[in-house]
Amino acid sequence: MFDAHAHKGDECSATALVCSSSEREYEALLDCPFRALGTIPEGGTDPDMAVLEKAASTGFHIGEIGLDRRYDGIPRQEEIFRTALEIARRYDRLAVIHSVRMNQRVLEIIREMGIHRFLMHGYTGSAEQASAFIREGGIISLSPRAERTRHFKALITLPFVTETDMRTGKEEEAALLAWNERLSALTGIDIAERTERMMKEALG
Ligand SMILES: [Zn+2]
Repeated sequence: MFDAHAHKGDECSATALVCSSSEREYEALLDCPFRALGTIPEGGTDPDMAVLEKAASTGFHIGEIGLDRRYDGIPRQEEIFRTALEIARRYDRLAVIHSVRMNQRVLEIIREMGIHRFLMHGYTGSAEQASAFIREGGIISLSPRAERTRHFKALITLPFVTETDMRTGKEEEAALLAWNERLSALTGIDIAERTERMMKEALG
């Protein structure tokens, strides 16, 4: 089983893409086999983009990065997001995208910049928009929160991967197992197997 988006718990996990919300986690993630360094607009402080660049050059993917309607300064958020996407592209890394009520804008930016290697983490938008991201080459990742949206039934007809967005460890493993079993029962597809296959390809 593979968790498409988790955060670091007490230890690294070899069965999760360990992501970060701040570039300050660089040192902490160095030992994780599948790691991504990012910065999301929750702190309000200006991230050090040079650290993101250093990370990309030393085997990190880039994320989570993105846009969040709950926070001010959308133009500044966009500037940081674009710079991070540019770094992901320059080093040919997967961009792990966090979007809160900004999916349309994210899609426009992805298209405008010609980004094709990305994952929409914790996706809860419509199936139509999900299909648009997939057409651009993106991966849709569903956490258990997706089941509480009105789009859930339509979303699970699309190819997607699964994530917990939890800290790696026993609880995260149990949550992922339950989530995969739930989705496999609903779709008749081995979701754990598919996620692992899609993620190995995306991270390779
Ligand atoms: Zn996260």
